[in-house]
Amino acid sequence: MFSRQYRISRYLAAGIIACTLMLIVIAGCLQNGAQSKSTMSATQAATQVSIRAQYAPGDIPRLGTAALEQANTSLNAIAALPPGERTFDNTVLAFDTAMTDYTDAIYPLTLMGYVYPDPQVAAEGMALEESSAVFLNDIYTRRGLYDAVKGVSPRTAGESRLCNLTIREFNRNGLKLPDDRLARVRQLNNELSGLESRFSANLNNDNTTLVFTEKELAGVPAASFASFDKTPQGSYRVTMKYPDYMAVMKYATLNTTRKAMYMAYNNRQADENTALLEKAITLRQSLATELGYPTWADYKIEGRMAGNSDRVMAFLNSIKEPLKEKCRTENAELLFVKKDLDPAATTLDPWDVTYLQENLVLRKYAYDENEVKEYFPADGTVQGIFRMYGELFGIRFEEVRDAPVWSPDVRLYRVTNLTGGATVGYLYLDLYPREGKYGHFATFPVISGRMKDGTWSVPVTIIVGNFPAPQENKPGLLTMYDVETLFHEGGHAMHYILTTVPYGTWSGFNTEWDFVETPSQTLEEWVWDPQVMTSLSGHYTNTSQKIPAELRDRVIAARDAGTGHYYGRIMANSLEDMEYHTAQGPVNVTSVSARVYAEMEIPQAEGIHQPASFEHLMGGYDAGYYGYLWSKVYALEIADTFKHDGMTNQTTGMRFRQDILSQGNMQDGGVLLENFLGKEPGTEAFYKRLGITKTPD
Ligand SMILES: [Zn+2]
Repeated sequence: MFSRQYRISRYLAAGIIACTLMLIVIAGCLQNGAQSKSTMSATQAATQVSIRAQYAPGDIPRLGTAALEQANTSLNAIAALPPGERTFDNTVLAFDTAMTDYTDAIYPLTLMGYVYPDPQVAAEGMALEESSAVFLNDIYTRRGLYDAVKGVSPRTAGESRLCNLTIREFNRNGLKLPDDRLARVRQLNNELSGLESRFSANLNNDNTTLVFTEKELAGVPAASFASFDKTPQGSYRVTMKYPDYMAVMKYATLNTTRKAMYMAYNNRQADENTALLEKAITLRQSLATELGYPTWADYKIEGRMAGNSDRVMAFLNSIKEPLKEKCRTENAELLFVKKDLDPAATTLDPWDVTYLQENLVLRKYAYDENEVKEYFPADGTVQGIFRMYGELFGIRFEEVRDAPVWSPDVRLYRVTNLTGGATVGYLYLDLYPREGKYGHFATFPVISGRMKDGTWSVPVTIIVGNFPAPQENKPGLLTMYDVETLFHEGGHAMHYILTTVPYGTWSGFNTEWDFVETPSQTLEEWVWDPQVMTSLSGHYTNTSQKIPAELRDRVIAARDAGTGHYYGRIMANSLEDMEYHTAQGPVNVTSVSARVYAEMEIPQAEGIHQPASFEHLMGGYDAGYYGYLWSKVYALEIADTFKHDGMTNQTTGMRFRQDILSQGNMQDGGVLLENFLGKEPGTEAFYKRLGITKTPD
């Protein structure tokens, strides 16, 4: 369970995956503890400049098998050491080395599953990813390794902590249980995986469509019609895919059309997936009981910043009321708009929300997104981000022009320290769509930063994205949302590259699950700073022409529209997730969902089955959805320090680099935050972001 591949996503209210961080969470992810600390020097030269970029069919499986054999040899050697010879270095550190040697070997190969132009090679990359996940899982059920780690006598408190955390991860896989009960845990885990796979497959294969006449689709932009299939009768077939769904919900003027769409969308796989989720919840309860935890949530949250389900609930409860108030205010505002459009209207219906929000933004902030985009050509914006991060973190990005790449539009950058000139990392950018390429935005781990054989091994990472491709005489133009996404992914990349942690399994963004989105969400805030936005902008026809201040200010003001519903939904989803996974006995997910949405005052219709398409709960986010809010609250606290010191203040930037970005998982996220903030993190900045005054408890 601990080394499965997770995809971490930024979740928007309507369900788009905007950003994903592909992250193999390796069991152990050992925190704190290690005493020695590496620092890089210019003499510790970069050992790898680029990764292999050309593969023939058969190469990836062969290399994957070789890496697996090497890992088994190393791991078996650790397990086989005579008890008298066992030390921290030859066991716990050797384990870290074996695990990282393996991931350094396979990550560049599994990456090809997402980006390689030849479909056969790409398929081999994906297959390796699946088999390596199984292999990594299996490692934590090996009794020989468990006994080996338990046999180490740590010399220091730090070593002791690392040993304990390693042992805990084996325990979490059932290894402290006798063999018959371990077998039951394995069986329950397999059964659970089966339910999760079926749930996701049902949604991936869902082909619900609705047929509307042109009249019924009044208001929907012409560009969207191009993607609808036409029926022989001349009507249009609309799918439940995100662009289709949003086009109707945002722009269709007829309530009946939006209602039909809303009901169909929120009833996808209603019967089968509701049953699968409810069964999974019961199964998770049994697993938690077998493993000795009061609830599944407590099992999942152990080892994260929050620590246990009570702390998560206390956190959610601390921001619930003001969020509800914010939703209530927005509801009133939306109803006002509705009455203006239709004087007979008396209530706000759930299928009105997106439509009226769009209408409100147009009324209040009137600007054309296409005009704004012209000031943010992709190349210029990337260079702007490099300038910004360079200034903040004392680094320089320089293109490696002769690097081998798998597609001509891929770029490689060397990142060096301004002081001393040492190479700190390499960053690939693969930003434009290609046939068969991964369709969202993600930052992938490629080579871990760590000490290897006494030398610093320089980290390599990649941002894979899908910006609008350049046209013949026009560069790709970015919306503000695209720019924010680039800052977000850039934050993950900085976290990965600026690490100084000597241990591969704890370096970079191998942090606690509910901390990992903190650096990325922090850096999103830069986009919305007026000076930064101006400095990033440059009209594609003449880059010295900046975005006009008046337009810029309207763009910034429009950011606040709908924040109550946006965060209110994340809150409702977090609450239902926690209720499902702290329950004892069967749960009726549909009624819990209806209750929490009502509690947050987010309009929801009767007769829908929202949990049936709540993929996160069957894709690794179970008892983890709160992490979006948790990370965001801390991200805003960090950004607030910059707002006080100046968004481009290098002293504060270097402190952020030192106290948080470089630290990986060497300390708990809470400790890192306190080091940087100089105080315990609170929720004030989050309240400020929402424009609400905190009511005293
Ligand atoms: Zn992210």
